[in-house]
Amino acid sequence: MEGLIVKGIGGFYYVKTSTGIIECKARGIFRHKDLTPMIGDNVIITEDDSPIISDILPRKNKLIRPPVANITQAYIIFSIKNPEMNIDLLNRFLITCEYFNIKAIVCINKIDLGSDSNQIEDMLKKTNYKVIYIAAKEGIGLDYIKNNLKGNLSVFSGPSGVGKSTLLNKIVGNELMETGELSKKIKRGKNTTRHCEIIEVGQGFLVDTPGFSSIDCEFIKKEDLENLFPEFDNYKSQCKFNNCSHNKEVGCSIKEALSNGEIDKTRYEFYIKVLEEINSRRKWK
Ligand code: GDP
Ligand code: ZN
Repeated sequence: MEGLIVKGIGGFYYVKTSTGIIECKARGIFRHKDLTPMIGDNVIITEDDSPIISDILPRKNKLIRPPVANITQAYIIFSIKNPEMNIDLLNRFLITCEYFNIKAIVCINKIDLGSDSNQIEDMLKKTNYKVIYIAAKEGIGLDYIKNNLKGNLSVFSGPSGVGKSTLLNKIVGNELMETGELSKKIKRGKNTTRHCEIIEVGQGFLVDTPGFSSIDCEFIKKEDLENLFPEFDNYKSQCKFNNCSHNKEVGCSIKEALSNGEIDKTRYEFYIKVLEEINSRRKWK
């Protein structure tokens, strides 16, 4: 039988199958192969004396914060203020999502505190990233999120204080109330031990723990970087040099697109900044 690991506690895994949630142990062999089942894994269960996870299906990706496999979309949350928006950090989130092959949706929270200066939307105009505006505390603008849970394993990420937990409770709390199911999740205390868990909501799945709040881009290799900017895709193969780093080379089609206004300046400058970080890192290694 096939299923999805939605929770793991003390050596037990809770696997959602077509016939409900099954408590499983993992087969010992995983520990030797350096492969441990994690939340979000699609697994095969075999019934021995008791149900065991006998196989893990190939992962699409694997995040560390939160430790979840196969996330399909991330809402990158920022707030109008308290805290202020941070464009550099937003771009770090975006390239991280590209790296892990996760669809990113940019979400501006706390619109009740003032109007957006549109700097984020301006920057992303020449990309395909979607930007939505919400007030999580007031439950305003949440329809897009609710309507797009279906078929996804979603996570809310963003810096501390932007309203990730508030949003999570709004989305999950409402859903649980709508289905008439009263859950401990609504009332969970801040000090209780938290296990990361996947919740079924809106015919999709949602990680119940906010995702990473800061980003370290150290894992990105120089040759990968250009692939993390989707708006470069149409141009990068047309550069004069095959190994063009789109920095100082002549005949660079990315720089041409930049001067034509087809690629956003802030995004390009961010690209150069990360490229330089990678280059200076290499010197010391
Ligand atoms: P997290 O650290 O990202 O999980 O952020 P929290 O959900 O803990 O929220 C941080 C603070 O922002 C709390 O005081 C929330 O009440 C507040 N907050 C969340 N959403 C909104 C909103 O839509 N408008 C306003 N004004 N405050 C909000
Ligand atoms: Zn180039």
